[in-house]
Amino acid sequence: MIEQFDAIVVGAGMSGNAAAYTLASQGLKVLQLERGEYPGSKNVQGAIMYANMLEKIIPDFRDDAPLERHLVEQRLWVLDDTSHTGIHYRSDDFNEAKPNRYTIIRAQFDKWFSRKVREAGATVLCETTATELVRDGNGKVIGVRTDRAGGVVFANVVVLAEGVSGLLGTRAGLRECQAIPTPLL
Ligand SMILES: Cc1cc2nc3c(=O)[nH]c(=O)nc-3n(C[C@H](O)[C@H](O)[C@H](O)COP(=O)(O)OP(=O)(O)OC[C@H]3O[C@@H](n4cnc5c(N)ncnc54)[C@H](O)[C@@H]3O)c2cc1C
Repeated sequence: MIEQFDAIVVGAGMSGNAAAYTLASQGLKVLQLERGEYPGSKNVQGAIMYANMLEKIIPDFRDDAPLERHLVEQRLWVLDDTSHTGIHYRSDDFNEAKPNRYTIIRAQFDKWFSRKVREAGATVLCETTATELVRDGNGKVIGVRTDRAGGVVFANVVVLAEGVSGLLGTRAGLRECQAIPTPLL
């Protein structure tokens, strides 16, 4: 598997899907790598989705995205070990024609978003972990190594959208080391 892409996107969560969709929609040759069995299989969220950013890249997402319901109120709490206090916010604004806050199930939502990414023309490879950035002699990132046999892929741009653990970026010295154990799972 040795191939050249315009862009490689690591991760098929919200950020990776947004990046891959945007790049592929512009006609670029995009490869997206996701270590999970399918997009959404590794993702955790409460989950309220604030839709205003999604609306900028997929304006008609409400037509077919797996949205559960829009929120009609929000509560905020401050906790300690024995007590809590909080505020409760409800407004008619929550019932606007195009609401901004929806509950979603990530396993379903990320699959839908990934379908949009593929429809935009990107190649999506699941069960594939990016293990290392590949650099040229000048240190420029030119691709990624994957856990597939012989699996080095090349691109003009590599987008790291690996989520909070960010192990690839940490290993490459692009972000601060975190108190998270080392192996890429
Ligand atoms: C308990 C909890 C509740 C939350 N609730 C909310 C909420 O209600 N609303 C909200 O807006 N946010 C919420 N968040 C935050 C939200 O989950 C994150 O902001 C969001 O998932 C970040 O998206 P992302 O695409 O950056 O990362 P992720 O969604 O984590 O996606 C990263 C993807 O990259 C893949 N990946 C990682 N490393 C590699 C690799 N080396 N190779 C290939 N693939 C890789 C992972 O499998 C994953 O699919 C919550 C988070 C937690 C933990």
